[in-house]
Amino acid sequence: MSRDEMRELQGRRLHKVVDYVYHNVPFYRNKLQQMGLEPDDIKTIDDIRLLPFTTKQDLRDNYPYGLQAAPQSEIVRVHASSGTTGNPTIVGYTHKDIGVWSECMARCLTAYGITRADTFSVAYGYGLFTGGLGAHYGVENLGATAVPASTGNTEKHVRLIRDLGITGLACTPSYALHLAETMEKMGVTKDDIRLRVGAFGAEPWTEDMRCEIESRLGLQGYNLYGLSEIMGPCVSYECQCKHGSHICEDHFFPEIINPDTLEPVPMGTVGELVFTTLTKEGMPLLRYRTRDLCTLMEGECECGRTAVRMGRILGRSDDMLIIRGINVFPSQVESVILSTEEFEPHYQLVIDRVDNLDRLTVRVELRNEFMTDLLPDLAALERKLSEKLKSVLSIRAKVQLLPQGTLERSQGKSKRVIDNRKL
Ligand code: ADP
Ligand code: ZN
Repeated sequence: MSRDEMRELQGRRLHKVVDYVYHNVPFYRNKLQQMGLEPDDIKTIDDIRLLPFTTKQDLRDNYPYGLQAAPQSEIVRVHASSGTTGNPTIVGYTHKDIGVWSECMARCLTAYGITRADTFSVAYGYGLFTGGLGAHYGVENLGATAVPASTGNTEKHVRLIRDLGITGLACTPSYALHLAETMEKMGVTKDDIRLRVGAFGAEPWTEDMRCEIESRLGLQGYNLYGLSEIMGPCVSYECQCKHGSHICEDHFFPEIINPDTLEPVPMGTVGELVFTTLTKEGMPLLRYRTRDLCTLMEGECECGRTAVRMGRILGRSDDMLIIRGINVFPSQVESVILSTEEFEPHYQLVIDRVDNLDRLTVRVELRNEFMTDLLPDLAALERKLSEKLKSVLSIRAKVQLLPQGTLERSQGKSKRVIDNRKL
């Protein structure tokens, strides 16, 4: 589609979605009315700048269904984001939404070179997380053979990859490396398997990581980006040129803004990615701030696609960490520590990648009055904190107790996070 045709389509769809939320979501109607806006004020895609932003906090404040536009009887599925900082975000999909999602996901797979002849293994988690089912429906929609391997039981997965001649794989880049390692331990070599395409995403990864995975699994690795609030995996995908990820912009309209001023930044400049869903029925969002930092690139790609591309995710405009695919905020660790009398409010999060899996260590100071040289007592304290952290973060953290006053006290912004992963 030419740029002009695309913009025309986006403009029409934007008007429709604004009209739809105005009449179905009190939150948006109130916002628009406060700004003196009527749906008919939105005529072209450029008018998007008139619209209010939506934030993660808005989703939380309206938990669980406050931003849902479709009646519950039309919702055929819900997913939830991890919700590590409070209420999880619940996203409801109508039948049509699932159809759009499957179509966009099939587009991604097609761009990677997957066809009906492929057997494709989905090794994202199946469940409330959008990764598993999202990718799965795309594979089926395309007509390839879906193998819902999910995560865990990696040895069994390696055997399936070998025995079924699996040619495509979707998972996080870190899981791909773990898989490679498991394969090597089992004595299965690249020549024993037929993998040729990997769809990797759900966490940031680098070009170095791509080279490593490609050479160890003997496949071509492509980026797959998405977020549950907007849809799930399928929002953007790399084509075989591997030069930015094409956005399904007929459904998800992208903008790049300065997160401080909220003003648009020029093409090619790093800023916060913002999406407006143009066709969603279940929970349409206007100008949703993803907190993901990246660039947008215009111009036709060598593959012939005209869709705008986004660069790699370079970081986040909040302090969220993604550890083993789970969102972790340093503030969560802080609140656990502060609610436990034995510890000083000085702590550090150290994240390492061991055997290609992320490992979180929480280093924390023990108050003098609780210091003891009885090892079982110290071990019990570590366990106590570790269990509390597990229940709040949903991932296991190793606790390292330090004598009071050990951690460096900072003058300004403290360095609470040491991320040793080469992301
Ligand atoms: P949540 O983590 O909030 O539950 P999701 O599971 O949908 O929501 O995760 C979406 C987030 O995951 C994105 O906003 C982004 O930070 C990260 N992400 C997803 N895909 C990629 C990718 N290909 N590269 C980098 N980061 C990604
Ligand atoms: Zn391309």
